[in-house]
Amino acid sequence: SKAKVFDKEADINVNFEDVAGLSEAKQEVEEIVEFLKKPEKFTELGGKIPKGALLIGPPGTGKTLLAKAVAGEANVPFFSMSGSDFVEMFVGVGASRVRDLFKKAKEKAPCIVFIDEIDAIGRARGKNAGFSSNDERENTLNQLLTEMDGFGSNSGVIILAATNRADVLDRALMRAGRFDRQISVELPDMKERKEIFKVHLRPLRLKDDVDPDFMAKQTPGFSGADIANVCNEAALIAARRDKKLVEKDDFLDAVDRIVGGLEKKNKIISKDE
Ligand code: ATP
Repeated sequence: SKAKVFDKEADINVNFEDVAGLSEAKQEVEEIVEFLKKPEKFTELGGKIPKGALLIGPPGTGKTLLAKAVAGEANVPFFSMSGSDFVEMFVGVGASRVRDLFKKAKEKAPCIVFIDEIDAIGRARGKNAGFSSNDERENTLNQLLTEMDGFGSNSGVIILAATNRADVLDRALMRAGRFDRQISVELPDMKERKEIFKVHLRPLRLKDDVDPDFMAKQTPGFSGADIANVCNEAALIAARRDKKLVEKDDFLDAVDRIVGGLEKKNKIISKDE
């Protein structure tokens, strides 16, 4: 659960092309790519570059992917940590991890710091006070706020954080000069699912009866992660059946399998559009 550091090489292959749909979110983060690539263009006129943006949306919709693509497009290092890594830490450890992460990031600026599941540390303070684990969570959150306030807005470090529970976040995180931009990353509609299928069909050897348009219609309520899963599962099913190419039937069986898994996990039947 140590903060992971990816170097340029490790993530250079993720860019906007790999992120299907999400056109509004992409447009918003494109600006961040510009900030990273040409900070002078903005600061010369006296502007302050935003320090952070919050990516808000359901699981598996591409928040992590989008953050990596920002780093890939700007060709800068990508540092990441997950809020859930801090939940069961000993006193003092969470805060010092945050400090270390930002120290490294500042040394490598311009760069992206990505905090996944920020709600795990960023819940409103003062609730359920008294449990030591919670105190530690608050220490971690306070350290994060301190770090964000501590570096100048033109330091070249831009923090992207992801959550599917923006409603529980401490308001202090959203204050000006912190995560003052909020970018919504929603479940894909049918057209977007088709685009996501196209991305994930790319590496597969397909029979010509496989149609992304048809697959998009078969998968209402699926996230990008679910679609990636369907494509991989279909390839595995086809291989198990000793086929030379992945066929439509393999995809339909993969969808059934994933719908089964989703129902077990969420007890939700996929929504219609
Ligand atoms: P979580 O909230 O669960 O961390 P997330 O929103 O960060 O989820 P990702 O981890 O980015 O989701 O998505 C998981 C995988 O699903 C990606 O690596 C990618 O393969 C696929 N995926 C998700 N969204 C998209 C998309 N818009 N375009 C292409 N692939 C996608």
